[in-house]
Amino acid sequence: MNHAIRVHEHGGPEKLIWEEVPLPDPKPGEVLVRHHAVGLNYIDVYFRTGLYKAPSMPVTVGMEGAGVVEAVGDGVTELKVGDRVAYAGALGAYAEARCAPADRLVKIPEGIDFTQAAAMMLQGMTAQFLVKRTYAVKAGDTILVHAAAGGVGSILVQWAKHLGATVIGVVSTPEKAQLITSLGADHALLTSENVPARVREITGGAMLPVVYDSVGKDTFTTSLDCLRPFGLMISYGNASGPVTTDLGVLAAKGSLYVTRPTLNTYTAKRDDLVATANDLFEVVKSGGVKIAVNQTFALKDAADAHRALESRKTTGSTVFTV
Ligand code: NDP
Repeated sequence: MNHAIRVHEHGGPEKLIWEEVPLPDPKPGEVLVRHHAVGLNYIDVYFRTGLYKAPSMPVTVGMEGAGVVEAVGDGVTELKVGDRVAYAGALGAYAEARCAPADRLVKIPEGIDFTQAAAMMLQGMTAQFLVKRTYAVKAGDTILVHAAAGGVGSILVQWAKHLGATVIGVVSTPEKAQLITSLGADHALLTSENVPARVREITGGAMLPVVYDSVGKDTFTTSLDCLRPFGLMISYGNASGPVTTDLGVLAAKGSLYVTRPTLNTYTAKRDDLVATANDLFEVVKSGGVKIAVNQTFALKDAADAHRALESRKTTGSTVFTV
């Protein structure tokens, strides 16, 4: 018997339906993974609401999981039955078991358990490409991270500190401010403050080379106002809604750059996926970045997890037990 959370029509958390679904045989190039843990990510909300469109409906949402290979399709040579594996970016994760393309999976190294793996693959690999490739953070940089107590945010804060940067985090509550300070943030600002004015004060007027913004609509202009001329705005998410803006604003605010990166593009090639995952595993095993699983839910209670995430009640990573 196999159960999954499926969405038959877009809408609120109540549209996440726990139901019995067939257990498919792996097609060529696929493996059947029996999940031990599944990750919760904001992108799951976008697929539930319809902001992002699934190829067909009903859709099993979820992009991230960790478990054990139970069967292997034709042509799969790198994995065998019994391997501990994890992945991010393969739609269909909210299930007890699912088939996934073998070339999207990586083996979980010793010392990392299923819960940690499910918590870190998507948010951690995102943080990896953001601090290493979209903008290479280095000692001496001062950077700003929005939603700094969140899943990606709390990893970004730690990783940027590990690379020697001064980190300004922005969060909505004093409790979250305390949390990011404990993660190493040098300055914890509240969303209620005048963020560009505080950045001016902190940097002695120099402003920032880069801003990491996953909030989208509500923070776009604020983020641009924190940058110095030629600065880079990394708009990597839309928790408050998508950004729609006129490019002229980039000219007016100092010949700024904007990029809208996705993990998909950065890990499309197998070599990039493996290198990104290995870099993440190493920084976690070395203790340079700690993965905080601050909430767990049973997979059948996915609606409660979505409610918590959307009402900004979660911090760090959230994992479903299966
Ligand atoms: P988070 O744990 O960061 O949760 C979202 C946080 O955003 C909230 O806790 C809240 O923090 C903040 N927020 C600000 N405005 C709102 C709002 N209107 N509604 C809800 N939350 C709001 O989620 P994730 O770590 O899973 O994802 C963070 C972002 O990164 C998402 O936008 C996601 O889409 C994006 N992302 C992008 C990827 C890519 O490849 N481009 C890959 C992975 C994630 P606070 O209360 O402190 O303001």
